[in-house]
Amino acid sequence: ATLSVVPELEEKQVFDGEKASLLVKELRKSFDLGRTKSYEWRVSQLEGIAKMLEEKEKEITEALYKDLSKPALEAFISEFSQVKGSCSEALQELKQWMKPEKVNTSITTYPSSAEIVSEPLGVVLVISTWNFPFLLSMDPVIGAISAGNAVVLKPSEIAPATSSLLANLLKDYLDNSAIRVVEGAVPETTALLEQKWDKILYTGSARVGRIVMAAAAKNLTPVVLELGGKCPAVVDSDINLQVAARRIIGGKWACNSGQACISVDYIITTKEFAPKLINALQEELELCFGKDPIESKDMSRIVSPAQFARLAKLLDEVSDKIVLGGQKNEKNLKIAPTIVLDVPQEAMVMQEEIFGPIMPIITVDNIKDSFSIIKSKPKPLAAYLFTNNEQLKKDYVENISSGGMLINDTVLHVATSGLPFGGVEESGMGAYHGKFSFDTFSHKKSVLYRSFEADTSLRYPPYTPQKEKL
Ligand code: NAD
Repeated sequence: ATLSVVPELEEKQVFDGEKASLLVKELRKSFDLGRTKSYEWRVSQLEGIAKMLEEKEKEITEALYKDLSKPALEAFISEFSQVKGSCSEALQELKQWMKPEKVNTSITTYPSSAEIVSEPLGVVLVISTWNFPFLLSMDPVIGAISAGNAVVLKPSEIAPATSSLLANLLKDYLDNSAIRVVEGAVPETTALLEQKWDKILYTGSARVGRIVMAAAAKNLTPVVLELGGKCPAVVDSDINLQVAARRIIGGKWACNSGQACISVDYIITTKEFAPKLINALQEELELCFGKDPIESKDMSRIVSPAQFARLAKLLDEVSDKIVLGGQKNEKNLKIAPTIVLDVPQEAMVMQEEIFGPIMPIITVDNIKDSFSIIKSKPKPLAAYLFTNNEQLKKDYVENISSGGMLINDTVLHVATSGLPFGGVEESGMGAYHGKFSFDTFSHKKSVLYRSFEADTSLRYPPYTPQKEKL
């Protein structure tokens, strides 16, 4: 049911600062009335999402295909089922998450009891991006609702089919007085960012992350920034090569054509092992995408002509280093799985996040030399290592700083809801997923309970010599 408390909102067509302000006013009224706070409201909205997933799977898959030619099974595995999992987990665990957490007290406060109470923040903004446009919109929204907030979602204009579908579905399935979608690009996002929010969760580039954080700072609004970076995969030689090759493919070319924030950006291996690894990748790629991968229906396309042009430029600069692939089709926005060997560190492909199907392989004499290469770059969102060497695993975990880390596989840590998902330094701040989503959209209020018993005069003036002796 819609509770229209700010009727002027519906009358205004253009989404400018004024309309954004009316929208926040409407949502804040709903929040202040306590509408979103109860367990029952949160459950009803999560059930609305569950129903939407049940009834609209086909439409969601089609929108993802329109935006990215995302294969249906890939869309199911990497987006649809993840959202479904998050929603079920929230429904199952919410009561437990909402319970105040008892903590120990100290002798100073004796007798007393203490607890941490999770309270909703208020009206929050989620700005999402185009590469997993359904997942990266719905997952934070599930967290915001679970924690009892009113929420505005701004999906990415670069995935217009999913953006429009989200706007329609959330309108039909959820409480519009507290949950809204605003579609649009820079002007609309700018108008939203001018408002006072109680938290902003932004997913996208570090460049725009800085714009978001600067806007949030004006109101001291806390932010979660889910950014990207160059995620390395260090590949040692004592591995199951076939499995490793397949898992690297799974975290690069079969992962939205490498257009993923935790996609393997580049590989580091030894000079000696590189030819074997390239052979294995070539064989497994052929099994996945056939002899002419650019025609494969099992690989997503590049999202836009602008992204295609950017990737083509990265590749042109190192075209003499191509050892596999390199074919491009501008008309259908496809680039074949491409490996470039030992490109210089100054090349653009080693300087910026690739976000596409180009994979540089950098060779070193000793596998431990990979550490200094990784450390010479900003901290990545994910770091991968393939090895059976326990000491190397230990050293990697202890010495490489990254948002998340995965040993002997790629990307799957994102689907482990017990692990917080987020970056560090240039790859972001804050984290979400599972209970971490609930926590991220809650204020953890410290509450100490005292009785009138055992009041001691020691803490009050006058501070007499007798008291000092005690
Ligand atoms: P982007 O920053 O250009 O766009 C993301 C959002 O910001 C969109 O909703 C867009 O409308 C908005 N936006 C763009 N320009 C803006 C401006 N000037 N002012 C206000 N809002 C603006 O990001 P992108 O290119 O779509 O995404 C690619 C980046 O996102 C990569 O770096 C990738 O690693 C990162 N990413 C991170 C995650 C994660 O979960 N950490 C997930 C996916 C992508």
